[in-house]
Amino acid sequence: MVERQLRGRGIRDEAVLAAMAAVPRELFVPSDLSRHAYGDEALPIEVGQAISQPYIVAQMTEMLEPRPGMRVLEVGTGSGYQAAVLAAIGCRVITIERHAELAATAVARLAQLDLLDLVRVEVGDGSLGRPDEAPFEAIVVTAAAPAVPVALREQLAEGGRLVVPVGTPELQEMVLVVRHGADFEESPAGACVFVPLVGAGGFGDGQVRRRPFFGRLRL
Ligand code: SAH
Repeated sequence: MVERQLRGRGIRDEAVLAAMAAVPRELFVPSDLSRHAYGDEALPIEVGQAISQPYIVAQMTEMLEPRPGMRVLEVGTGSGYQAAVLAAIGCRVITIERHAELAATAVARLAQLDLLDLVRVEVGDGSLGRPDEAPFEAIVVTAAAPAVPVALREQLAEGGRLVVPVGTPELQEMVLVVRHGADFEESPAGACVFVPLVGAGGFGDGQVRRRPFFGRLRL
């Protein structure tokens, strides 16, 4: 996975590559799918959600320019895999998940890997972030937003980086936002498909009728 899917496609940050080599991805997928854990694809997890394709996790993590000790907010804990990768790099992560069942499973997995010193899992609507814990040096949204969530942008530290898939529920563009004072520099980073961000800063519940996409996206 690391050599072919990540390094072979241009992921260069050695800390990201090492973390993804170290975190056992099979722990984060449903047990009947463990033989696909290192495949080049997103996989379905509980309550109709998905664990992202390894390349997408690597790309988003690299875009954050993670360093040990950095404070990171993740919106959309899902399986807990992205949070585990960030913690394996040494980041201190707050991750928010709207489904309590997923949050509980993620906590159990992170505990098994002894990563709970670095990761706090919270249940709730993360689409408006965590203003009382701001500023964050990095924010990663692992669900599709209709636009760059302004509330999250405002919670970036100076020079902080926000990575968020922006678009329709069917197709998004990965967007990197870097804060320079009151200015926010946005750069696009390619097409992607995520399950929708639901909630105040995301899509309204009624707007999301489609079944989420679990197939393979060839970029
Ligand atoms: N990062 C995850 C993948 C997340 S899938 C991983 O590594 O496995 C997207 C997740 O975002 C889903 O679990 C979904 O329930 C959650 N989600 C969607 N809207 C949310 C919101 N407003 N607040 C918190 N979590 C949300």
